[in-house]
Amino acid sequence: MNPIPILDLKAQYATIRAEVESAIARVMESQHFILGPEVEALEQEIAAYCGCQSGIGVSSGTDALLVSLMAIGLQPGDEVITSPYSFFATAGAIVRLGARPVFVDIDLDTLNIDASLIEAAITERTRAILPVHLAGQMADMDAIMAIANRHGLYVIEDACQALGADFGGRRAGSISHLGCFSFFPSKNLGGAGDSGMVTANDPALADRVALLRNHGHRPKYYNQAVGGNFRMDALQAAILRAKLPHLEAWTAARQRNATLYRQFFLDAGFASETPELREQKPVILPRETGWGRHIYHLYQVRVQNRAGLMAHLKANQIGSEIYYPVPLHLQACFEGMGYAKGDCPNAERAAEETLALPIYPEMNEIQIQRVADTLAKFYSH
Ligand SMILES: *Cc1c(COP(=O)(O)O)cnc(C)c1O
Repeated sequence: MNPIPILDLKAQYATIRAEVESAIARVMESQHFILGPEVEALEQEIAAYCGCQSGIGVSSGTDALLVSLMAIGLQPGDEVITSPYSFFATAGAIVRLGARPVFVDIDLDTLNIDASLIEAAITERTRAILPVHLAGQMADMDAIMAIANRHGLYVIEDACQALGADFGGRRAGSISHLGCFSFFPSKNLGGAGDSGMVTANDPALADRVALLRNHGHRPKYYNQAVGGNFRMDALQAAILRAKLPHLEAWTAARQRNATLYRQFFLDAGFASETPELREQKPVILPRETGWGRHIYHLYQVRVQNRAGLMAHLKANQIGSEIYYPVPLHLQACFEGMGYAKGDCPNAERAAEETLALPIYPEMNEIQIQRVADTLAKFYSH
């Protein structure tokens, strides 16, 4: 039996090799490696894809977050309300600027920030809300934007896992002041190294991000602000441009795989969608909010006996992964910020129970069935 990894980038590359190779050759012929026409073309294509006015290519998703927070003028001592259940960079970017991440617990069904808890966390130091669209499904942006408007706060979307997701027809990255994307190789649209994008609708904010992306040079060697080197490589842009036309089909394949998993677990009785039974079953399925399109960057289930299940999957050569084992408020580096166990009980529980199963677009129905059967075998003993 062939292994089923959590993600198989070689399988994807086999389907697009010629297009990617010609994109790489184009950049090598041009010998233009940083920013320039390939990056500008990608910026326009991603902006159009997200329904935004502009895109600013940057060096990573982490730098997209950092430069966005710099662009809104975040100062030491300011507070930013965010999710405790995310990749580290979400909170790291805030702390690097001397500001304080204020963690508001998640909704256990969607693993996204619980918007109903945000308003109580606002203080006079709050400058922004930084929701994360985890796993490919958007946070409750209507509620978040309404709160932000009432209190005069910026909203920056961490959309690193949500390129192409939407909320009532509006794409991730297009609803708030700035959207942050990552093209890390394992993301739904991944490059051959690090890169990212900031999306914007406000021309002044977009201009500020563009200025800060390149040391605040304007013109070169005349610095209007202290920025950094957050520039995007042309090679990444060219490769991403070759892959972008495939993204819709890849998303459809991920959604098909999610539907297959769901059907299997429900039919086999290992999961339930009835609210009273949902938590009693060994597998708790990701809940689709119905607000818009879930692009299934990850297929996260909550499970009983996670360590045992992971070992069983591994013994059957099936990959799985924990995103994330430690909620951000309990990270060692944030000790001394005053957070303690019990502050965000849902995030703490998610960190103990979630498991991501393979859902990459190149998986076929037989492979999905094998993963599901392997889980079923584990829980029927
Ligand atoms: C991947 C990711 C990031 C960071 O992106 P990089 O390109 O790896 O720097 C930030 N936030 C979330 C939610 C992510 O998934």
